[in-house]
Amino acid sequence: NVSVVLFTCDLRLHDHPPLRAALDGSRQIVPLFVRDPAVDGAGFAAANRLAFLADCLRDLDAGLRERGGRLVLRHGDVVEEVCKAAAESDADEVHMAADVSAFAQRREERLRAALEAQGVRLHVHDTVSTAVPPGAVTPASSDHFAVFTPYFRQWSRQTLRDTLGAPRVVRVPDGIGSAGLPSRKGLTGVSEGLAAGGETAGRERLTAWLRRGVDAYETGQDDLGGDATSRLSPHLHFGTLSPVEVVNRARRAGGPGAEAFVRQLAWRDFHRQVLAARPAVATADYRTKRDRWRSERTAREDVAAWREGRTGYPVVDAGMRQLRYEGWMHNRCRLLTASFLTKTLYVDWRVGARHFLDLLVDGDVANNQLNWQWMAGTGTDSRPNRVLNPVTQAKRHDPDGAYVRRWVPELASVEGPSVHEPWKLRGPQRAGVDYPEPIVDLSEGLARFREARGRD
Ligand code: FAD
Repeated sequence: NVSVVLFTCDLRLHDHPPLRAALDGSRQIVPLFVRDPAVDGAGFAAANRLAFLADCLRDLDAGLRERGGRLVLRHGDVVEEVCKAAAESDADEVHMAADVSAFAQRREERLRAALEAQGVRLHVHDTVSTAVPPGAVTPASSDHFAVFTPYFRQWSRQTLRDTLGAPRVVRVPDGIGSAGLPSRKGLTGVSEGLAAGGETAGRERLTAWLRRGVDAYETGQDDLGGDATSRLSPHLHFGTLSPVEVVNRARRAGGPGAEAFVRQLAWRDFHRQVLAARPAVATADYRTKRDRWRSERTAREDVAAWREGRTGYPVVDAGMRQLRYEGWMHNRCRLLTASFLTKTLYVDWRVGARHFLDLLVDGDVANNQLNWQWMAGTGTDSRPNRVLNPVTQAKRHDPDGAYVRRWVPELASVEGPSVHEPWKLRGPQRAGVDYPEPIVDLSEGLARFREARGRD
């Protein structure tokens, strides 16, 4: 007997419940990945993520080959391709991971119906892409938590399953055809400083992080210049690392740094349980504030300056340039660039979320859209009118200006914290700096936002 294992956002061999279940029940498996044009059409496939994905698929194939198998890659509608692969291999089961977006929920429904018609059973496994699955903890009165702190209290009390090892042997039936593996070469628009993808790279990073990085996380997580976060987000997005394994290993490492790190991982599950319950919040407000946001069209110049990192606020510009160069941005800077766009420039959060999704290698419907909504005040933040002042934030989280000087070379000659307020420079120092004046006055921006929100 044969089982198909459909890989989606779980591109790994370690701690993979669908793979384990398929191998337990079958002599042979078809490890399948489908490149579906509908995913590209829906905007999920950006150059940076396609490049990272190519690394992941190559590494997954290499891992399967070491064990006697190989990856089967197909192009086309995911439901049709799974049905075809099942028919060609005479499989009687398909195993896959549960997922939360509207796209994934529809895919699962369609797949279940199509496979049933073919006499094939679909098994959907729910601790693959989250540590605690959506719906596993709920408040008394709702199907999901809308506030993080009580969610986290219950999340922390859950007993996670043990981490599963990678299989030793994988046998794939002969004669199942596969498309060629993609590669980074030939892709245009990939960020120069993009990290390497794949399970091997992810496992190395996790091990190094738990040995050398995590202890300083509690105090260093917001330090922009120190760059002291795990950078595991792309691996969690593509599932080259398992959230269950990451939490289990971090808890074993122990200490206040590991605890703070596990708390951040719970934010990931929190957003997933919101999206699973309310898939429409990928584009619609979670809590409607009746904002009359400026659109991309009405705020064209401001949006262009924000995207290109020339707002005249150095820390905002540094973040936006890091995003373009690395396909990744520090969380503190994601917060303050999002606050700047939505609250200071009063531009619709969807404009910013779209730009982030175009570039972020970890770009993820749940985390991106719901963090944007959190900062725009339309989401789960209990203080929806909070505004982050980019100058105060910069002085607090980049006290000597190292982060800004790294990403805004025009300001490299300005020493110390004065780099955060170049408009205050005088005389020859100002003359030597080719950097724009602020595009907006912070207090005017704040007044516009307060007035707009106040009218509701
Ligand atoms: P660490 O600080 O090392 O945290 C460890 C892990 O915890 C991360 O890898 C991530 O999986 C999770 N995590 C940390 N913070 C958050 C958070 N606020 N919400 C959810 N999970 C979190 N994260 C994404 O993975 N994809 C996105 O598309 C995304 N878009 C964002 C957009 C905005 C406007 C903001 C404010 C945040 C966004 N985040 C997103 C959350 C966060 O910024 C990143 O997860 C984090 O910066 C990744 O870096 P790291 O792996 O070094 O994080």
